[in-house]
Amino acid sequence: MSATSALIAAARLLAKEHVAPYADAIDQEARFPQEAVTALKQAKLLSAYVPANLGGAGASLSELVDVCEILARECAATAMIFAMHQIQVITIVRHAADNAWYQNYLRELVQHQYLIASVTSEVGVGGEMRRSQCAIEPDGDRFHLIKDATTISYGAQADDLLVTARRAPDAANSDQSLVLVRKADYTLQQKGGWDTMGMRGTCSPPFLMTSTGELAQIIAMPFGDMSAQTVVPVSHLLWGGCWMGCAAAAVNKARAFVRGQARANPGTVPPTALRLAELVSMMQSLRTSVQACLTEYEALAVADDAAIGTLTSMAYSLKMNNLKIDATQALPLIVTKALSICGILGYKNDSKFSMSRHLRDAHSAAIMVGNDRILATNANLLLVLKDD
Ligand SMILES: Cc1cc2nc3c(=O)[nH]c(=O)nc-3n(C[C@H](O)[C@H](O)[C@H](O)COP(=O)(O)OP(=O)(O)OC[C@H]3O[C@@H](n4cnc5c(N)ncnc54)[C@H](O)[C@@H]3O)c2cc1C
Repeated sequence: MSATSALIAAARLLAKEHVAPYADAIDQEARFPQEAVTALKQAKLLSAYVPANLGGAGASLSELVDVCEILARECAATAMIFAMHQIQVITIVRHAADNAWYQNYLRELVQHQYLIASVTSEVGVGGEMRRSQCAIEPDGDRFHLIKDATTISYGAQADDLLVTARRAPDAANSDQSLVLVRKADYTLQQKGGWDTMGMRGTCSPPFLMTSTGELAQIIAMPFGDMSAQTVVPVSHLLWGGCWMGCAAAAVNKARAFVRGQARANPGTVPPTALRLAELVSMMQSLRTSVQACLTEYEALAVADDAAIGTLTSMAYSLKMNNLKIDATQALPLIVTKALSICGILGYKNDSKFSMSRHLRDAHSAAIMVGNDRILATNANLLLVLKDD
């Protein structure tokens, strides 16, 4: 068995044994998927992307997108936690692995399977990832950082946090750094609840974060560069894996429903089969657009000057933003069409064809970095970008 298929096989088994059985309870109780995360740690999947020379499995982004889809077919919240953690790991591997402090951290992450949460959203700037109000305050060879975060997924369960902040107290709000803060060095004061429509298992309430650390924990590359080259494209691709899994779960229920109708009336094609044909075509479009952007990104993520030039170009930014907009608009439409195929059995909460959780989870996608915010960025880009 190749390393690739070993990773995917492990994810499939884990999804069946440690994700699917708990998905409804996690949704109903809005509780953290502890069973799944414990299993992910035991299978060393939290360090899958860490290169082999630092002890990890050296997995590719494509493999991680596949794992997101596998997990999301059973529980989108569990998949999203996995995706958000991997975004942090990939950012560190790609932009901080030449820093001795981070090399040591990555080795420890492989050993202890730390779960890293992301702290970008902030009171006053909302979901604008490229602006911060809080600032890193140097103090000798250490720093202090306080952030009033609107949303930290699995904040209470995370081992460490990767936080955006202004580089220094006198820096502009777009002059940001990214810093990892360790569990022993921060406190989180929870300031609200997380009783949401969907993605309930991500457990993402607001927190006031107070932290300290060594200056070496501040990644040298400006956050704006990491954001263009890695954070934004990788987020949209890993989230794309989660959205494909959520959509595929709904589509597969609709397929089973139509097959059941066909079996009940042998020799006839049920009227829902036509809707199913449309649905499968929508699913294929979603998959094709995520896959095309993934293939292009993996070819560009080689870190030579030409590739970096492309990744940081306006045209590439527009393309990845469009992937996010299109995929997050398609997802609720796909689940809604699957619901219309299954009818009342899709509408019921206690039916094996229930679409409730998928539909509620699907609506998080357009909000998780608001689509209007992304469209506003695209509108500005299009004013200056030359025609193809
Ligand atoms: C499931 C889930 C998990 C999350 N986990 C995390 C996490 O772990 N860490 C984290 O930091 N954040 C997290 N977030 C927060 C997320 O990244 C966004 O910050 C948040 O969803 C945006 O909040 P908001 O709707 O108030 O949007 P904002 O971006 O604050 O905007 C508010 C409203 O104004 C509109 N708007 C804003 N700017 C413009 C504009 N320029 N043009 C037009 N309209 C505009 C938006 O559409 C929105 O309706 C999570 C969100 C979700 C849904």
